[in-house]
Amino acid sequence: RPRIGVLALQGDVREHCATLTRCGADVVGVRREHELVALDGLVLPGGESTAIVNLARIFGLLEPLRTAVVSGLPVLGTCAGMVLLADRLVDAMEGQQTVGGLDVTVRRNGFGRQVDSFEQDLEMAGVEGPVHAVFIRAPWVEEAGADVEVLARVPDGAASGRIVAVRQGALMATSFHPEVGGDPRVHRSFLDLVHGT
Ligand code: GLN
Repeated sequence: RPRIGVLALQGDVREHCATLTRCGADVVGVRREHELVALDGLVLPGGESTAIVNLARIFGLLEPLRTAVVSGLPVLGTCAGMVLLADRLVDAMEGQQTVGGLDVTVRRNGFGRQVDSFEQDLEMAGVEGPVHAVFIRAPWVEEAGADVEVLARVPDGAASGRIVAVRQGALMATSFHPEVGGDPRVHRSFLDLVHGT
């Protein structure tokens, strides 16, 4: 059984833990540095990226998280978690720090106010059949580096073509919330990535 940590400072930690447990993982809530040890993978949940990064700094976790990413730990970031994995942000809080690792520019709250939240079916590489994607004040990937594989884009509407799921090496991120709605397939594809590394 893979041992998967969920960063448990703020956000929808419980939903991720439930989905990962359902997928057969041993789940560990991560609030301290020693809880990062001996993990096979890590999830950065949705929530509020500013709150999560500030708490991570206060808990002395920011540098250990960076070290874990650099060392090749597989990480799935969803929504705020995608913001946390981005090397570059636009429309973020002044000076907002990230863990980084993904060679992408992420626009925080990219989908804007008028569509704060919406749901859309989309195709995602590595997942068979449509994924029902839940977007809640979601970021999008504005620019992706050469080594970044685009896994999903918004299929139609005003934001058509926007990148909403990516993978680079052992890092995976979605703008939407696969932990919401009871579909474990995105987590399963992350666990495939964990098994492959
Ligand atoms: N807008 C939030 C942020 O930038 C993310 C929202 C979410 O995770 N649902 O942190």
